[in-house]
Amino acid sequence: MKQVAIVGPRQAELIDVPDPQPIDDWVVVKVTVAPMCTEYKAWLGGQLSNCLGHEAVGAVCAVARPCGVAVGDRVVVHPTWPCGRCELCHAGDYIHCEHMVNVKAYTGSDSGTATYCQYVIKPDWLCTRIPDDISDDLAGLLLCGLGPSFGAFERIGLAACDTVVITGLGPVGLGGVVNAAFRGARVLAVESNAWRAELAVALGAEIVLDPRDEATPARLRELTGGRGASAALDCSGAVQAHRLLVDALGRGGRLAFVGESSADTVLHVSSDMIRKGLTLRGSWHYNLTRYGALVDVLRRSPVAARLITHTFAMSRVQDAFETLATQNTGKVLLRPFE
Ligand SMILES: [Zn+2]
Ligand SMILES: [Zn+2]
Repeated sequence: MKQVAIVGPRQAELIDVPDPQPIDDWVVVKVTVAPMCTEYKAWLGGQLSNCLGHEAVGAVCAVARPCGVAVGDRVVVHPTWPCGRCELCHAGDYIHCEHMVNVKAYTGSDSGTATYCQYVIKPDWLCTRIPDDISDDLAGLLLCGLGPSFGAFERIGLAACDTVVITGLGPVGLGGVVNAAFRGARVLAVESNAWRAELAVALGAEIVLDPRDEATPARLRELTGGRGASAALDCSGAVQAHRLLVDALGRGGRLAFVGESSADTVLHVSSDMIRKGLTLRGSWHYNLTRYGALVDVLRRSPVAARLITHTFAMSRVQDAFETLATQNTGKVLLRPFE
């Protein structure tokens, strides 16, 4: 099968690799849509890799024995390689599993573990069926497009009476705007990219402020009647955004972190936490038991489909990376068989 490889700085091409084979209750899925995530950063940096992508939608095409899905089922293929046996996995919170499976040791190959390719392999329970009224493209949003912010808002209980501040409007943050608007919350966003700011307003943000503008913290206070916001979501992973959100929250505010960060954020236990009564939550993805609820967001949100801004044949992956690198995108989809 064909698979994408990064072969140098800003250089990607298709290579041939063996097709994955089903084993036990691990099935093979023919990929129709591979949503792109942060892999363009490796492409920009020239980090050589032929293991790109963790999001896929497709149809089951081979099983080793009768299991939870059947050949022909259209499915969302969920990311990572959880054990399926621990308490967290059983509760659907597979993303936090501490016992990830070594795929190569288990299957004898790492073929089909990346998603920028034509066939992937996955345990049956991590392939959730797509209802007939949801297209494969739209189902592509049930991964990192809408999943992380959905999980975060479930965890902090975001509701219609909330004013939520969202920092970082990449595809995950834009998905946060869709989810927050769907829940009826008032959305104030913070982002420096003008293209993404405009899309965020179309998706339901009341206003998008520029983090480089010194007046932004005061403006957030003013927009929340001096009390501060009741909820916040960081999708940027930037230390400055963490500080901005802690300060923008009012007493009793809830903040969820979704953006990964390698830098240290300073929190003052007394003034930031105890006196304000803040709740801080780290949240990576959503719980599988809430898959049906997220499908309903897709079905009923009037704007969710607008989160998909570009689609590329996988043979044009180089153009897809160039486009992502401009950052003037929402979610970008690859089609592995074109
Ligand atoms: Zn587990
Ligand atoms: Zn992702």
